[in-house]
Amino acid sequence: MTDDKTDPESWRPATQMVRGGTFRSNFEETSEAIFATSGYVYGSAEQAEQAFKGEVERYIYSRYANPTVCMFEKRMALLEGAKFGMAFGSGMAAMFGSLASFVRAGDRVVASRALFGSCLYVIQDLLPKYGVESVLVDGTDLAQWEQALSEPAKAVFLETPSNPCLDIIDVQAVADLTHKAGGRLIVDNVFATPVLQKPLTLGADIVMYSTTKHVDGQGRCMGGALLTDDEDYYNDHLVPWMRHTGPAMSPFNAWTMLKGLETLDIRVRQHCVNAQALAEFLEGRPGIVKVLYPTLKSHPQHDLAMKQMAAGSTMLSFELAGGKAAAFRFLNALNLVDISNNLGDTKSLTTHPATTTHQRLTPEDRAALGIGDGLVRLSVGLEDVEDLKEDLARGLKAANG
Ligand SMILES: *Cc1c(COP(=O)(O)O)cnc(C)c1O
Repeated sequence: MTDDKTDPESWRPATQMVRGGTFRSNFEETSEAIFATSGYVYGSAEQAEQAFKGEVERYIYSRYANPTVCMFEKRMALLEGAKFGMAFGSGMAAMFGSLASFVRAGDRVVASRALFGSCLYVIQDLLPKYGVESVLVDGTDLAQWEQALSEPAKAVFLETPSNPCLDIIDVQAVADLTHKAGGRLIVDNVFATPVLQKPLTLGADIVMYSTTKHVDGQGRCMGGALLTDDEDYYNDHLVPWMRHTGPAMSPFNAWTMLKGLETLDIRVRQHCVNAQALAEFLEGRPGIVKVLYPTLKSHPQHDLAMKQMAAGSTMLSFELAGGKAAAFRFLNALNLVDISNNLGDTKSLTTHPATTTHQRLTPEDRAALGIGDGLVRLSVGLEDVEDLKEDLARGLKAANG
């Protein structure tokens, strides 16, 4: 194995995405190898003993670490500007590990209410079973954060932009409050991607990704990642958690994610160009109550979005006037855009959050999050935007018909 000969930290992000973390075996392969192995062999019994004592750094078992997975972790860490990266088998494994690895009974966790459904389950339903108190706030209201963080809190978790209404939370302000409360701030950066937003530079302690989404970007594999500069958190909590509870990413998925990262920059930028064009196309059309997209002037946190993000997001949502019936007519009339709850794919995908991703919530809870029966979420793909406009117009005609 030979390491990079130049300094990857000095590379610009697009270069890091193509080449960061790559190491080559003795075969000098161009593309990263898939090390499909669960175990590793030792030259002697003494070597095995040294490895287990931690006296030498080497591969021991793929639940602990694997060369292909390590390449992916290194590339993600470089891109995020983080010292440490850890890959997981799914975004939810990363999310659960980010908290469960270090909170204990009696701790408080504060989170924004507008979270991906399973993240909400972990914070609202699961952690309290283990004696962890969880407090939910409206993430866009700093006064609520101030109040919740006027007492000690071990961890704060937020998602910005949020699913599905693209609420924007002031990461720097919440990071400051979190640190005063003695806690660590974890940011779910899935909607923003590392191309559009860098939470560590805004004061966050840990960044979480579902790499199932834009990092793979082509709807193939599940994966997740945590990135951090916090050495204590990484060494004392994450590493033992990963080694002994087993949410490891598979080498094949890590390889797919490495290939995904090589085109992440160019894909996300084009996704955003398309999303912006569609947001403008939809806004003000008959039958549309509102369009939620961060770079539109009409977005409630437009100024904050422009301050902390490089573009609007690959996602947009809009509210149809006719409720669920209109939303269903819209979805069923589409010829090109697929109905799917997944996102961050080259293929445009659309979903009706009230009856799918957020159907578990009560109507009151959905209303509090702004998820009406007419809300439609769109993950904008890389098709020609004119074809997408034609398809959306077809859906709207049906919705209004
Ligand atoms: C998909 C997603 C997750 C969960 O990731 P999985 O890879 O599906 O486990 C968490 N947060 C957000 C914002 C997501 O979109």
